[in-house]
Amino acid sequence: MNLFSLAKKFPTEDAALLHLIKTRWPHGVRCVACDCDKCWLVEAKGTTGKPRKLFQCSDCGYQFSATANTLFHDSHLPLTKWFAVICLMVEGKKGISASQVRRHVPMTYKTAWYVCHRIREAMQEPKSLKLGGESTTVEIDETYVGGRKRGTGVKAGRRAKTIVVGIAERDGRIHLQTVRSAKNHYVRPVIREKVDPETPKIVTDGAGRYRTMIPREKHEQGNHKRELHNKNWTTTQTVENAFSLFKRGLVGNYHQLSAEHLDRYLGEFCWRYNRRKMQPWLFDMTLVNLLNKKPLPYKELTF
Ligand SMILES: [Zn+2]
Repeated sequence: MNLFSLAKKFPTEDAALLHLIKTRWPHGVRCVACDCDKCWLVEAKGTTGKPRKLFQCSDCGYQFSATANTLFHDSHLPLTKWFAVICLMVEGKKGISASQVRRHVPMTYKTAWYVCHRIREAMQEPKSLKLGGESTTVEIDETYVGGRKRGTGVKAGRRAKTIVVGIAERDGRIHLQTVRSAKNHYVRPVIREKVDPETPKIVTDGAGRYRTMIPREKHEQGNHKRELHNKNWTTTQTVENAFSLFKRGLVGNYHQLSAEHLDRYLGEFCWRYNRRKMQPWLFDMTLVNLLNKKPLPYKELTF
């Protein structure tokens, strides 16, 4: 869905609110306090005096908004603007920064930053996701991200960078995450957690350290000679392509990406990449997650 069709589909706040309510409660509104299904719509006045649409539970009397206890919690931004930001974030292959968002959808930088982070939270794979499995080949590699400092040497530059481990199914899904160092101690648990033990073949570059992490009968290492022959082909091509796509987005969109938030950005990138063939449904999939996940307070993001 692009911004034009979005504006056509949800021309007013009421249209957006109705879609949100239907998405959150497909079988009818339920009280967020007692789960009772007899809730009535009431008009109340917010703290600013603006009329607000609330639900009132006929059982316990609790009043709640359609966005209570969700990632939208306490937001004063109109839903039509929220929808536009979701649309921008799911459309761009490489992601979009908060400063770009506010050029398309008027709001302060701070609001854009916070809204983007909450939508990003909705675009994370479940922790239980495993890659590979029967008859699937998995590639593993790592790369350095960010931390470029002018005037410091190559060594200091490397120290400032964050290491990202990438796992990719050939023609399938990817998982990227930061690790404290490239030592076995930090990389091994990632492989154990994210690669399905049924995976028959795991491909890495020629680096020796993977030999102790992956059972020999499954392990295939890059053949350097063959790679030199054909410069466009390496055995870990899928994961390398994912790295470079992420980095191109990084340079263009997130100039001041902080290392603490890097895993969230990586998560967002993987979520979208893993759903690249589901483009028409991404908007609603994100909306469902925004409504099903718990609020993310500003303080938690800024520590
Ligand atoms: Zn109730």
